[in-house]
Formats: sequence, C-alpha cells, structure tokens
Amino acid sequence: MAKTKSFKTESKKLLQLMINSIYTHKDIFLRELISNASDAIDKRHFLSLTDASVPSEAAYEIRLYNDMENRTLTIEDNGIGMTEEELVHNLGTIAESGSKAFLEKLEQKDVEIIGQFGVGFYSAFMVAKEVEILTRSPYAETGYRWVSKGESTYKIEPVDKTTIGTEIRLQLRDNDPENEAAYDTYLETHTLRRLVKKYSDYIRYPIMIEVTEKKDEETVTRWDTLNSQVPIWKKPKKELTEEALNSFYKRQYNDFEDPLLTIHTNVEGLLTYTALLFIPAKPAHDFYTENYEKGLQLYSKGVFIEDRNKALIPDYFRFVRGLVDSADLTLNISREMLQHDRQLKKIANHLEKKVKSELEKLLKNDRERYVKFYETYGVNLKYGVYSDFGANTELLQDLILFKTSKSDDYITLAEYLDRKTDAQKSIYYATGRSKAQIMSLPQMDALKEKDYEVLLFTEDVDEFMIQVMPTYRDVPFKSIQAGASDLLDEAKKSAIEENEKTHKDLLETLKTLLKDDLQDVRLSGRLKESPVCLVSGEGLSLEMERVLKKMPDAPDTLKAERILEINPDHPLFQALTTVHTQQPDRLEDYARLLYHQALLIEGITPENPVAFAELMAKLMVEAAPK
Ligand code: ADP
Repeated sequence: MAKTKSFKTESKKLLQLMINSIYTHKDIFLRELISNASDAIDKRHFLSLTDASVPSEAAYEIRLYNDMENRTLTIEDNGIGMTEEELVHNLGTIAESGSKAFLEKLEQKDVEIIGQFGVGFYSAFMVAKEVEILTRSPYAETGYRWVSKGESTYKIEPVDKTTIGTEIRLQLRDNDPENEAAYDTYLETHTLRRLVKKYSDYIRYPIMIEVTEKKDEETVTRWDTLNSQVPIWKKPKKELTEEALNSFYKRQYNDFEDPLLTIHTNVEGLLTYTALLFIPAKPAHDFYTENYEKGLQLYSKGVFIEDRNKALIPDYFRFVRGLVDSADLTLNISREMLQHDRQLKKIANHLEKKVKSELEKLLKNDRERYVKFYETYGVNLKYGVYSDFGANTELLQDLILFKTSKSDDYITLAEYLDRKTDAQKSIYYATGRSKAQIMSLPQMDALKEKDYEVLLFTEDVDEFMIQVMPTYRDVPFKSIQAGASDLLDEAKKSAIEENEKTHKDLLETLKTLLKDDLQDVRLSGRLKESPVCLVSGEGLSLEMERVLKKMPDAPDTLKAERILEINPDHPLFQALTTVHTQQPDRLEDYARLLYHQALLIEGITPENPVAFAELMAKLMVEAAPK
C-alpha cells in the first residue's frame, strides 16, 4: 500500500528553491546524484567486509540510462540502497550536510554560490518534474518505490526489487524555449559524457552508459565507461590545478569558500600513503562547540573506510580537514582495531610534521595569509603548547604570534629576539584585556624607559601556555606583573633595600593591616608615576586566578600570591609616613584604599566594592576644607 508523506519544513524550502531555480548551472544535479551513488557503493563495499548480512558484488558500478522516448534519465547504482525508514529520513529531511549549510547561506540571498555546495539529492528537481526511486537495502525484506513531484509530499510503497542498490529515474521537465531551458540535452550521450568528465571524473567506480555504434552495417551496443576513476588525490600533482582541488574540497567538505591552505602529499617507502589536507578559510560553524569532531577521512586503496579518523590529527590541528589514502592499511579488521594501528600512528606523525612545515612555509612566504590563518586558529596552537605538559612546545612555538607594546602587527618569538638588544636578558610579557590597558599599567613605566618590547597577553590561554614554556631559545620569559623586577641596577636595588630598612615599621604595620588580602608589602623600584602596583608571587598569576575562577568548580583556595609595591618617590608615600607617625588610627583606611587602587589598576574588581566606595567617601569628606 502506498503511503503519502510530507517533506519536513526545511526540505520544502529547499525543494521550492530547486523547482523555481533561477540558477543557470543546472548541470550539477548529475554530479550530486553520481556522488550519492558512489557514497552508497562505498558503504556497501565496506559493510560487506565487516557485516555478513551484506553481500558483496563482483563489480561495483554506476549506470546511466537515457531514454529518449520517455524523456527519462536514470542513474543506477549497486550500492547499499535504502530501507523504508532511510528513505523517509534521508530524503524527507535535510541532514546536517551541504543542503543545510546551503540553506543557511541562501537566507543571505547569495544565489550564485549554489553550485559550490553539495546541494544533494534535491538538485534533481532542477531538471526533473518527477523523481522516482527504486531501492533495495540488504537490511530490508523488500524493495521500495519513492515518488515525488517535489511539491510538498512524496509517496512510498513496497515493490519487487531483487538487486541491492538504487535507481533514480528523472522525468525531465518540458523544454522551455522562452527561458532557453532545453532539458532534452540531458538525454544526449555526449552531454552526459561531458558532464561526467567535468564533475565526476575521479569517482572511483565506473560510470557507464550504453552506446550504439554502426559497425559493418551492423548495429552494436556496448557499455562505455565515462570516467577515468582516478581519485583526485591519486592524480599526479602536475596534472592538478588549484581550481580542481578547491572545487573538490568544497564539494567533499561542504564549504562554500576556497580553503586557506591545501596540502597534497605523496609518501612512498616503508609507509605508502597519500594525504590531501585542507585548512578551511573559516572554521566549521560548530568548531567551537563540543559537537565538533576532528578527524580525517580514511581510505585504503581508494576504498572509503572512515569519515573522521581522530587518530590521524592532533587536537591542536583539529581544524584540518581532508583525507588519507594508504595501501598499507588492512581492511578486514574492525574500525576499533584500526584506530590503534601502528601504521596510522606513523602516518599521524608524518602529517603533524607536514602541517607544521607547510604552516612555516606560509608564514615565511605569505605573511598576510598566515596572519589570517593565525587569527582564525591561533588559539588552538596555544592550547597545543599548554596540553600534554608542554610536550609539543618545540613543534608549535615558532607558529605562535604576538602583538607587542611596540607592534600592532603580529611578530614571532624569533623576531622578538632579533629585535632586542644584548642588554635585555628576558622576553617580557604583560597580561591584560587590551593593549590600552596593558600600556597604562604602572609596571610598564620601567620597560618604556628602557625601551624594551613587551609581548601582549590578551587571551585567557596565554598565561597557561607560558607556564609550560619557561624559555624560548634559552631566553627566559618574564612577566612584568609577577615577582621582583629584574630591571633594577645594583645601585637602585640597594637604595630600595636601605629605604625598606628605614621604613620597616611602616611596612610591617601595613602588612599586618592587610594580612587577609596580601602576602607582602614592599617598596618598589619599577614605578614612575603611579603610587602603587600589585604584583603576584612566583606561583599562580593574578590573570590565571581570574581565568580559573571563571571555571564552574574552581576551588576557593585558588589564589595568586599578592604583593603590594609602593612607590617611595611618590608624594603619597610621604603622606603615608606622616599618617603612620601622627595619626596611626587612620592608617588602616589608607592601607585599604591603596590596596583597592592597586586592584583596580590591574583590572580586578574589589571583592567588596561598596566598602571601597564608602571608604573613599569618608576620606573625601575628611579631606574637604573645613
Ligand atoms: P548528502 O549526500 O549531502 O548527505 P543528499 O540530500 O544528497 O545529502 O542525500 C541524503 C541522503 O540520502 C544521503 O546521505 C544518503 O544516506 C541517502 N542517499 C542518497 N542517494 C542515495 C543512493 N543512491 N543510495 C543510497 N542512499 C542514498
């Protein structure tokens, strides 16, 4: 019995678009249907090796039937076929595949890009007024017939079909001379030959058509193969144009932009494989969510095995898409085992180095493009340094870029070292929300005076990364906001020490008054204009404390060691000493305000802003003329 069902809402939208398509390159319907057929054969081929209920086929192929009389074009495959549920689910709704991305894009009225998408099965309705599918899955008791005019419903009924696979029959639309649409052309063998050659040449299975020839007064028919069947990644590099690779990428990975970088590599020797890798110009829409799955497609001798093999690509290169085809992988083992395959590990190692070296090349030869890459994916590289206790620092450190106190363009660490003078012993960095905020930190004064360049750490991950990367080419990193300053000369240091002795009593009192908030109070040699600054001790930095506190179950004990540094040359210090000797009761208010001031300068909100405001008001009242 035939059942009539409705397409899901999104599908209807897409169907409407296809039916009323103003798109001129209707040709792509053939590419889409052939590529579906090829995927279906891939699936069957693979399953036949691992699932006893799926019989294999002596020859996998895709056949085209052009029936002039009835004006139908049929695409037949001996792939996996579809069960009734699959017909409903796969063709009645839009999967999260190309079609959906396309629809999202199309809301932005960008019709010309249609051809760059894998718009999928529905594209059939650009050329057909009715589509009929006959299909049989090895998992079903019977075959099914699916039929639709593409409007809003389709019909499904069981049919007798003995062979596993799918036939898609297109009842072509009537020619429409007014709009120069001659659908008859899709019935002509030479058109089909041309389209297959153009769009589907690399399909791994023969795409065949029956041709008739006159030989010695006799008419003979034979099946002719239209495609060369060499997968694009198996073609000699010199035969491949950038355009061909780009269009392969867009179709295969449902992107509508050319990739930022393409890496094509053939390795022969103990390990033989081909890899075709791409870095998308923009990260996938779910890239920053937990749903994103990294991984490369895996093929063995051109046979598809797995869609996203995670073992092939490290997390810090998780943005890389593409495929690996290796003759060395044994096919008839389960996927789980395959993941642990030693060969895969070796390939992964090669690829990691290859991606790195290609990125280095890009950095050297096309800075602008590299910066684009870095702004999109740089954070991943920084997390890469941080992960595994810094095991990948060597690999990644030269790919990381920073903006600095002196440069609004990104520079590498190597460039930083080249630019510094011998007198400078450390690589300085400062943490903050923005360049402006960092530049106004009181701790910057000393560096400005010495004309030292400071790396700007404005991302959460920066300070974590630096924890596992204490040096670069043996030069230590040094935060300008943590520990003692290493910029003071001996004379200055001993002057400060003397001064601290003289004011020992005051410093001790301040320390006692602020003992709940602070670990130490010291006199500073690094401040110029500012009366105070807050620095952290050697362990956790203030910035890391801020980042860690944002995490859901951060323990309360997570606290950076806080040290208040007071500028002895600032008039406020003079004021402090006077208050200390003449009105010691008022010193606590001063101490609290100083501490809060230091917090604010660092961009930290005081724990109790109300108490701070009240204190401020109190002192203002006291200071007003009586
Ligand atoms: P996509 O191929 O991007 O997933 P399509 O709209 O082209 O989207 O196809 C939807 C789904 O229908 C496919 O993912 C596949 O599961 C199924 N399908 C399409 N054509 C065939 C076919 N010839 N044989 C088996 N399944 C098919």
